[in-house]
Amino acid sequence: LEMRIRQLEGGNTRRFPDVKFLNYRTRKRILITGGAGFVGSHLVDCLMMEGHEVIVVDNFFTGRKRNVEHWIGHENFELIHHDIVNPLFIEVDEIYHLASPASPQHYMFNPVKTIKTNTVGTINMLGLAKRVGARVLIASTSEVYGDPEVHPQPETYWGHVNPIGPRACYDEGKRVSESLSYAYAKQEKVQVRVARIFNTYGPRMHMNDGRVVSNFILQALRNEPITIYGHGEQTRSFQYVSDLVEGLVSLMASNYSMPVNLGNPVEYAIKDFAIKIRDLVGGDSKLIYSDAVEDDPQRRRPNITVARKQLNWQPKVSLQQGLQRTIDYFQKELLRSSHSNRN
Ligand code: NAD
Ligand code: UDP
Ligand code: UDP
Repeated sequence: LEMRIRQLEGGNTRRFPDVKFLNYRTRKRILITGGAGFVGSHLVDCLMMEGHEVIVVDNFFTGRKRNVEHWIGHENFELIHHDIVNPLFIEVDEIYHLASPASPQHYMFNPVKTIKTNTVGTINMLGLAKRVGARVLIASTSEVYGDPEVHPQPETYWGHVNPIGPRACYDEGKRVSESLSYAYAKQEKVQVRVARIFNTYGPRMHMNDGRVVSNFILQALRNEPITIYGHGEQTRSFQYVSDLVEGLVSLMASNYSMPVNLGNPVEYAIKDFAIKIRDLVGGDSKLIYSDAVEDDPQRRRPNITVARKQLNWQPKVSLQQGLQRTIDYFQKELLRSSHSNRN
C-alpha cells in the first residue's frame, strides 16, 4: 500500500512557482474576490509567492481558471466558484474585493448585474469583514470622477457622473461601494481601504474586451485599421499591472483609510496612443475615426500625491516596457488560439 501511495504521489508531483515560507504568526488567510480575473490573478501570484494562504472567489463571468491554474493543487491555494451577490461564510484575515466586470463592454452587458455585484456583493463582503474582523480593500475606479471638470484628478474631487447614462451601472455602483465602505467603517468599525484604480493593462487582460489597449494591439498585430472613437483628443493614463499590484498590497498594509488613486500620471491623447502602439508593433495599420462613445470621459489622469506620501508608492514600469510585454502576450495568445482552432 505504501508503495502504491508513493506511486500516486509521484504521479501527482507538480512544480509550483517558489513560495516563501511564513510561520503561522505572519501567514495570513487572504480572500481575493474576482481573483481569476486580470488584476486579481496577478495579485494572487504576488500574495502566494509571499507565502500567504489565498482563497479566490469568482463566478467566472470575465475571469478564467487558466489565469490561476498554475496554483491549483498548491496547499496554500483554494479556488471557489461563487457569486458574491450571494452571502459567503468563510474565515479570513484580509479581503481584497475585486469582483466586478471592469471593461465598458463587460459592465454594460448586464447593467443590473453590475449594480448588484457592486452593491449587494460589496455589502456581503463588508458583512463578512465585520463578522470575522478582517480588513477589506475595495477596488474602486477613476470612473467615480466621471467626465471630470478637475484635471488631473485628486481624491478630494467629488466627480461628475451621469446617474442615468450607459456607464452609470459601473460608475454609480462603485460610488455606492465606496459609500458602503465608509458606512461600515463608521458604524461597524470595519477597517476599510479604498483604491481608486486608473486604466490598467498587461498580460492576462482580455483580448476581446473592447478596451483601447486590447483593441489597438490586436488591430496593429493583424494589420487592420485602428479604430479611434470620436476625435481622439480624449486622454487616458495607463498603468502596468505589476505597479498596481504593488500599490494594492501597500495600501492594504498602510494605516491610511481614505481613498487613494493608483495610476500612472503619464497622459496620452488616444490618437497618439494609437500611433505609439502601431510603432511598437510595426506594420502599417491606418487610423480610422468613428462616432464618439456616449458619456466618454474626455480627460483622465491621476494626481498621485497621496499614494506617494502615504504609501511611498509610484509606478515604475514605463509605457514602452509595459506595452512590449503586453504585445508579446497577445502574440502568444493569438498563436495559441490559431493552434487550438486547427486541432
Ligand atoms: P476582470 O473582469 O478581469 O476581473 C473581474 C473578476 O471578477 C472576473 O474574474 C469576474 O469573473 C469576477 N466577477 C465579476 N462579477 C462577479 C460576481 N458577481 N461574483 C464573483 N466574481 C465576479 O477585471 P479587472 O480588470 O481584473 O478588474 C478588477 C477590479 O479592478 C474590478 O473591480 C474593476 O472594477 C477594478 N478596476 C480595474 C481597472 C482596469 O483598468 N483593469 C480600472 C479601474 C478599476
Ligand atoms: N454576510 C456574509 N458573510 C458573513 C457575514 C455576513 O455574506 O460572514 C452577509 C450577510 O448575509 C448580510 C450582509 O453580509 O446580507 C451584511 O451583513 P451585516 O452583518 O452587515 O448585515 P445583517 O446580516 O445584519 O443584515
Ligand atoms: N477607444 C477608442 N477605440 C477603441 C476603444 C476605445 O478610441 O477601439 C477610446 C474610448 O472611446 C475611450 C478610451 O479609448 O476614450 C479608453 O477606452 P476604454 O474602453 O479602454 O476604457 P475607459 O477608460 O473608457 O473605461
